[in-house]
This record gives sequence, C-alpha cells and structure tokens, in this order.
Amino acid sequence: MADELEQHREEIIKLNEQILELLTRRGEVAKKIGEVKRKQGIIVYDPKREKEMLNTLIDQNKGPFSDSVIKQLFKEIFKASTDLQKGDHEKHLYVSRKLKPEDTVVKFNNGGAIGDGKKSFIFGPCSVESQEQVDKVAENLASKGEKFIRGGAFKPRTSPYDFQGLGEEGLKILKKTKDKYDLNIVSEIVNPADFEMADKYVDVFQIGARNMHNFELLKEAGRTRKPILLKRGLSATIEEFIKAAEYIASEGNNNIILCERGIRTYENATRNTLDISAVPILKQGTHLPVMVDVTHSTGRKDIMLPTAKAALAVGADGVMAEVHPDPSVALSDSGQQMDLEEFDEFYNSLSPLSKKYNTNEL
Ligand code: PEP
Ligand code: MN
Repeated sequence: MADELEQHREEIIKLNEQILELLTRRGEVAKKIGEVKRKQGIIVYDPKREKEMLNTLIDQNKGPFSDSVIKQLFKEIFKASTDLQKGDHEKHLYVSRKLKPEDTVVKFNNGGAIGDGKKSFIFGPCSVESQEQVDKVAENLASKGEKFIRGGAFKPRTSPYDFQGLGEEGLKILKKTKDKYDLNIVSEIVNPADFEMADKYVDVFQIGARNMHNFELLKEAGRTRKPILLKRGLSATIEEFIKAAEYIASEGNNNIILCERGIRTYENATRNTLDISAVPILKQGTHLPVMVDVTHSTGRKDIMLPTAKAALAVGADGVMAEVHPDPSVALSDSGQQMDLEEFDEFYNSLSPLSKKYNTNEL
C-alpha cells in the first residue's frame, strides 16, 4: 500500500513539472503574441478569442474535473498570460510610483518648486475680490519670501445666489499681482473651455473638490502644459482620487499636485474630516507631490496650526490655507480665512517646523 502511495506521489511530482514546463512554454508564446500585437497596435485583451478557447477546452473535457473547474483554471492561465503581454505602463497607472519610483517635482520660473523635498506653501484669499485685496496678501507673502499665491476667480458655490467670482476680471487682477510681486498664481478653473483663456494669467490650474469627478475637465487639464493642483472630491475614496489624477496624466500632463482637503463624514465638529492618513498613502502609491488644505478641511482657524503641523509631520509636501486682509467682509468663506495678523502668527509657528520636516534634510 505504502509503495502504491509513493508511486502516485512521484507521478504527481512529475506531472507538476510537466505542467510547469508547459506553462513556461505557454508564457513564452504569449509574450511573442504580445510583441506582435504591440507592433500592429492591437489591444492585448481579446475576450472573444478567450471565450472560443474556453468553449473548445470544455468540449474536450472528459473529467474528472467539472467544466466549471476547468473554466476557472484556464481563466487564471489566460489572465496571467495577458498580464505578461502588457507593457509596464499598461500594468501600472502613469501616476503610480511603481511606474516611476522617483518623486515628481513641479518647478516654476521664479525658483518656486513643489515636491522637491522642501515644504511649499500656497496661501491667499478664497476669492479674488479686488486688486487691493489681493495685493495686500501678496505683499505679505512676498516679504516672507513665499513663491505662490492662491485666489479663486471662478467659484463653485453651493448656492447659485452666492458670489460666483469675478471671472476673467479676477484673473487679470491676479496677473497684475504676479507682475508686481513675482508670485506664482494658483487659481481654479471650472469650465474646460476656460483653460485656453486662463493660460496667460495662471501658473497652476486648480481643479476643485466638486469637480474631481468632472472627467471632461480633467482630460482638458491633461492637455494643457501647466501644473494642475487637483483637490480630493468631497466623497472620493483615495483610489478615485488617484484615478482622477490618472485622467490628467493619461492626456500627457504629469505635472500634478494632489491636495487633500478633507472628506465628508458624519462628524460636524469640523467642516470636513481631514484624512491625514491619505497623505502617506498617496505618497507611497504615487510619485506626485501631496499638499494639505487646512482651511477647507477643518473650516476652523483655531485648529489650523496643529493640523498644518500634522500635515508636515506626516510627509505632505506643503500646506494650503486661506488668508484675507479683512475676512469679515470676504465674499466667500468669511468665517474661516485668517486675517494678516493671524496669518503672521500661524506662519511664524509653522515655517521653522517646515525646515525640520524637509525630507531632504531628514
Ligand atoms: C478652494 O480652494 O477655493 C475651494 C473651493 O476648495 P475645495 O474645492 O477644496 O472646496
Ligand atoms: Mn474657500
């Protein structure tokens, strides 16, 4: 009896080796097919052909495995073979760190950079309201040696009766500020048709949380040659956020800055819930710089500093926050914007820490 078992086991081992040899040969042929397909520009996955092959195998199946087991086993083999046929960029997203292990650094002509290992800041008013208003913030930022200013000219508001932004007029104001203070302009675009018009005024096109799922806007952003600051959608999972960035990258624009700005949860102590763990997850999974918007995530000036510190400590490439010369009269987000005095205090506490957490100095 023992001899018989031993014999069968030996036979199984030999069969395993034969199956492995056949799988290896199958894999080699599949790779050759993949090369031919690539040369001819044919898509690797061919469901019709797969179905035909499966049907033939089931017709030939004499047991003991049931048809469904045979189907399942061969499906796995087919899938492994198509994976072999795919090139690197077909297996991984363009934004994935698996495809590009080194960090993407977004660089600007005035010496500014985001993602270079140092911490970057993007501050400025929620909405552009007047030249004087923007210039007051810009003067403060320039005196600190900052390289960016934000301000919305197109505002996606909850109510159609709320201030919608000054439109192109607002962008012209921002451009004048840029020329005066040499700051890069970060401003939101809400309509795919506006990128062309806004190109002469804006250095970073922002795509807001409400538009993270606006795929036509994402595709158009991908066709521009300017950096895109993409904010996480109000209820977007991290995977959806990454796929939204992929829409931009797939059109050829890899200059993308991701921005965690809080997500909607049942918690109402803050305007949104700042998902701080998204930062290292995005940094691990993608090669893109990641910033944290502490204004829209918390909606609370009293915890802006600790959350900004947390963002830097957890590995964010920078922080975004709203600053207004006179928040009490702001046309949007009046309650959550810092005035210049509050901002100075915030900045003076945060910027020494930013040096401590510079990844190229750790
Ligand atoms: C903004 O940054 O101006 C803004 C509207 O933010 P969010 O899209 O994150 O709500
Ligand atoms: Mn705002």
